[in-house]
Amino acid sequence: MDIKHRISFNMDDKRIVSVLLEMGIDTKVVELPGNGGNLITILIYESDPNWDKTVKLISNVKHFVVYGEGDQYETLFSNNEVRNAEWLRLISNFEQGYPQPKALWPLKQQSYEILCPKCAIYNQTKPMRLAKEPHLGKKSFMSLIWTNELFCTSQAFQGLAEMNARGYEAWDAVINKTDQVLEKVHQLFIPNITSPGVLGKKDLQGINCPACGTIKYYPHMSGVMRIKREAFMPNTDFLLTHEWFGHGLLAWREILVSNRVAGLILDQVWQGVRFKVVEVV
Ligand SMILES: [Zn+2]
Repeated sequence: MDIKHRISFNMDDKRIVSVLLEMGIDTKVVELPGNGGNLITILIYESDPNWDKTVKLISNVKHFVVYGEGDQYETLFSNNEVRNAEWLRLISNFEQGYPQPKALWPLKQQSYEILCPKCAIYNQTKPMRLAKEPHLGKKSFMSLIWTNELFCTSQAFQGLAEMNARGYEAWDAVINKTDQVLEKVHQLFIPNITSPGVLGKKDLQGINCPACGTIKYYPHMSGVMRIKREAFMPNTDFLLTHEWFGHGLLAWREILVSNRVAGLILDQVWQGVRFKVVEVV
């Protein structure tokens, strides 16, 4: 497990850049127009031997807090760590277009039954609507911007069926203007939801919806997500978390997949998703 940081800050004086570059840190500087100073962006992993030194250096010249403002971070897991985990979060890293009709999303559309107009939690009741057939390239999985619904190719569905994966359905998705069923992908619909079970909620910031009382947590970015064992249903390879994540009108449940599904995707080198380890406790 490693945590990747993309740290951005603005400074008039860019002397720090040469110090960072001498340390071998991936550093980019963009001069902003109109005497706007310099936007300095560095990419660094916590495993980098210069991590502590770098944080100290930035903190000395610019108020900087790790995991604070200006720090975009994400936890990355090796394939070995993924293969050794009992459950994983499946994260799409290939987004293709918006759910339709985009202009009315999410409050007025045909795919979701919106349960609360304030935080936009929902049940999906009808097929997702896309603007057109997606361009997948070499990807086997995709999602849409703003949503966490997962789509995959027939080849991926075939692989899942061959291993007798349980707990998913193949749903048609349609082209919004014509109602024509998409050919390149179907939605991998996950009907089952865990019981409440995400632990460490104190460390997860969230917002309590003033209208319905549902807590929506901010995206989980640091380390492993811990979930109580009794929250999982037996005999399934796919689940959604009971807990909602997102902010504003963005709302999603995290997709959980079993070790064997993650193993299949890694074995087949199917692209478009990556995994984050879940610790079952
Ligand atoms: Zn609400």
